[in-house]
Amino acid sequence: MTQSRRKKGRSAAEKPLAGGPAASEPATPDRVSDLQSSPAQSSGLRPSRPGAPPSPAPREKEKAPFWRKPLEDLSRREWEALCDGCGRCCLVKLEDEDTGKIHFTDVACKLFESGTCRCRDYPRRRRRVSDCVKLTPENLETIPWLPPTCAYRLRREGKDLPDWHPLVSGDPDSVHRAGVSAQGRVAAFEDDVEVDDLPDYIVSWPGKWPKGVARAKKSKG
Ligand code: SF4
Ligand code: SF4
Repeated sequence: MTQSRRKKGRSAAEKPLAGGPAASEPATPDRVSDLQSSPAQSSGLRPSRPGAPPSPAPREKEKAPFWRKPLEDLSRREWEALCDGCGRCCLVKLEDEDTGKIHFTDVACKLFESGTCRCRDYPRRRRRVSDCVKLTPENLETIPWLPPTCAYRLRREGKDLPDWHPLVSGDPDSVHRAGVSAQGRVAAFEDDVEVDDLPDYIVSWPGKWPKGVARAKKSKG
């Protein structure tokens, strides 16, 4: 690679709703359990006739999980919960000036917490890090560096969420156990690395689907 310049691109989902759960981080256990699709519930009391066998509970149509809705139909809270918490997008990226190719590094944003893969100051992140990008249904098309595992990218491509996504597994750690996240893989933080030294930190894994990990399939709708 000849000369690289710093790619000013990081991303984060929309900021959480005021008064919503866990105001400062990506998908949390609370959000996951709040937003997972629940099995059909009984409709409540049924009339009871002495001597007559109880009528069976009406079978309710199973609801499709919210994340299969079109992205623009998601509520702000649902949009926020779609983030898998992998942290790949919080890694510094470089763009090759000659080819336009974007390279990930394993240098993380100064606000990134590498143990949990969360932002240390999510509510004020864009005031503190000017190039932290707020993802929206509209700008997804224009961002060329979202990782292939990113839930927003998968949904935009019409794919379902994979089994390791916390919304599917019900476990916020499943993204780490699957080896998808940046947990334990950050070599340095941006404030500790000179811009000219960033090419030394280029890595390929954030731009790839991990080996042996179930891939996302086309959505059933
Ligand atoms: S790359 Fe991961 S952390 Fe970043 S927005 Fe996508 S799902 Fe969320
Ligand atoms: S400020 Fe940094 S750590 Fe926080 S969401 Fe943005 S890129 Fe990620």
